[in-house]
Amino acid sequence: MPRQVVILGASAAGLTAAEALRRRGYDGALTLIGDEPHLPYDRPPLSKQILVGTWPPERARLRDEQALAGLGADLLLGRAATGLDAAARRVRLDGGDTVGYDALIIATGVTPRTLPGAGLAGVHLLRTLDDALALRARLLAGPKVVVVGAGFLGAEVAAAARQLGLQVTLADPLPAPMHRQLGGQVGALVGQLHRDHGVTLRCGVPVSRFIQAAGRVAAVELADRTVIDADLVVAAVGAAPATGWLVGSGLNLGNGIECDARGQAGPGIYAAGDVASWHDHRSGARMRLEHRMNATEQAIAAAGNLLGDNQPFAPVPYFWTDQYDTRIQAYGIFPPDADFQLLSGDPGERRFAAAYGHHGTVTGVLGWNSPREVRRLRQLVVDRAPWATLTTPSPVSPLAAR
Ligand SMILES: Cc1cc2nc3c(=O)[nH]c(=O)nc-3n(C[C@H](O)[C@H](O)[C@H](O)COP(=O)(O)OP(=O)(O)OC[C@H]3O[C@@H](n4cnc5c(N)ncnc54)[C@H](O)[C@@H]3O)c2cc1C
Repeated sequence: MPRQVVILGASAAGLTAAEALRRRGYDGALTLIGDEPHLPYDRPPLSKQILVGTWPPERARLRDEQALAGLGADLLLGRAATGLDAAARRVRLDGGDTVGYDALIIATGVTPRTLPGAGLAGVHLLRTLDDALALRARLLAGPKVVVVGAGFLGAEVAAAARQLGLQVTLADPLPAPMHRQLGGQVGALVGQLHRDHGVTLRCGVPVSRFIQAAGRVAAVELADRTVIDADLVVAAVGAAPATGWLVGSGLNLGNGIECDARGQAGPGIYAAGDVASWHDHRSGARMRLEHRMNATEQAIAAAGNLLGDNQPFAPVPYFWTDQYDTRIQAYGIFPPDADFQLLSGDPGERRFAAAYGHHGTVTGVLGWNSPREVRRLRQLVVDRAPWATLTTPSPVSPLAAR
């Protein structure tokens, strides 16, 4: 049993791991270290309620000060880990001091990818509370907005900017928003949702450069030479695991910190949340998820394995996104070449559930404004139900949404 646990990253996964350890009876020393100055907060509201202004920033806090004090942990905020000596079991911090551990949980998340020219005034990223507050302050000035990248983050930012009454263009090299995550049929429906709310979509053409005037972004040029005027650009082009500080540590860093099926990355070292890539013992493949629910589930699993559970991590992945009055929820995985079948409801009514299949089994289910139905259908993913047993025949046409 360890007596000195250090957790790096004081956000969803890090805080959950600390709480799970205490719940499981771990009563040794616990240190939670995060490089942001704020008390741990939740990220999903940043692109939704915080940006639109329906929540004050404090409401995104994960725990109040009393609950944090009740953890009995040393909470070091505003401190970044800068290196790891795995042999000596010590973490180096930004001031040059080091912290020793018996067991370490790394939950440092991801860092947004940037585009060339991203340093230009008027070009924003969105990952942190400070990013969200800075972006909201600029949106309130009424700029023409171009969102580059129409994954779930970019699509949510476009929705929030429209809800603030702004002129918004959403650009992506793929043919539809969320195409990469949810495929062509649902992507087309998401695109229609945005068009119906007044967003101009420029999908299917990559951005080639930002055009500046007087040191600020003034326009975005697409590969087809179209120029879109912009006072403000949000680059939402994905993120990379925050592992730069681990280079030279001896840990395997591929697409994230490479862990075994139990979340272990090295002697006494576990990883959880967005930063962790683990060996999925069912598929034999590596997995890494950037979903809020996964941060919680994987942190609980890592804490349990650190205390000796010796259990493989085998979640049913879940994510949701809120855009306008629409909530899309999805369980499972959604390979790019998956089959797609409508199971209930009507895309035209903007309320339906659908299944995704791969190699003859159901791998994912999706609900569009159908929370109860999608929770019920989750069992199809758990059971890996044969695709052939799905009964509703007609594959959905994107045009059905009109
Ligand atoms: C704007 C936004 C909206 C989202 N909306 C949804 C949604 O609707 N649905 C959904 O399923 N998911 C959503 N997500 C994803 C979800 O928030 C993440 O999956 C979740 O936050 C991951 O938690 P984490 O603790 O692994 O990483 P993070 O939340 O990224 O936390 C990692 C922490 O570690 C810190 N850190 C990094 N490096 C170091 C270091 N060297 N030393 C110390 N600290 C360090 C970081 O600053 C950060 O505070 C959203 C994400 C964002 C950014």
